[in-house]
Amino acid sequence: MKDKPKNIDHKETIIKLLPGYNCGICGFARCDEFAAALLKKRGSVESCHFMFQEIFFENLKKLEKLLKEENIIPEDEKIVGVLDGYEADFILGPLPKEHSCREILYPFTREELKKGDTIRYRPLGCPIIHFAKIIDENNGLITVHIVGPCHRLDKEDFEFKDVGVCMVGGFEGIIEGKVPSVGETVRFLPRHCMMQKVHSGVIVQIEGKKAIIEGIDLKVWAPPIKG
Ligand code: SF4
Repeated sequence: MKDKPKNIDHKETIIKLLPGYNCGICGFARCDEFAAALLKKRGSVESCHFMFQEIFFENLKKLEKLLKEENIIPEDEKIVGVLDGYEADFILGPLPKEHSCREILYPFTREELKKGDTIRYRPLGCPIIHFAKIIDENNGLITVHIVGPCHRLDKEDFEFKDVGVCMVGGFEGIIEGKVPSVGETVRFLPRHCMMQKVHSGVIVQIEGKKAIIEGIDLKVWAPPIKG
């Protein structure tokens, strides 16, 4: 009996690892089409949102391992902040179909802020002015997406509320790298960070690769020198 070609074996393995919902959200009509696209580097795992749910987390790890072994996605590389040269545990990327990872802010302004507003602010501890869109407001806490500054500053017709300094309470996004445990103190690099500076915080929620990190600090200390 003839051996099956390797890519057919891989396709079957990938199909078994995918959710099997055949929902089309990834842009392919069925999971088997998505599996074939992954093998041809015409799709990315992030397009199937279900893979980031806790029930598929083990499958996701196996799928990423297989894709790395076949050189379809790159092996994890050392993540180093450009500004300070510190090593980060992972990059925090956006949730599927979002522009940046989410920031949860405590604004100090008395101005009323609501969902849909664009704000101009400076995160406490960061020298760079940010522009962001509010996607949620809850008892004075706002959740935002970063939308600038680079591509926004030249537009004369764009309106924003200047809210001054905001304290960054948390981040929410998808971990690109090894997934830590709840309660762990981590160093991470938000993918959208204009300074590419390593942040630190504490993991308060993990669901698959989706994480909420609170207690954000821009002061990251060098690791202790072992004697
Ligand atoms: S989004 Fe996921 S579950 Fe839906 S068809 Fe694509 S691979 Fe299958």
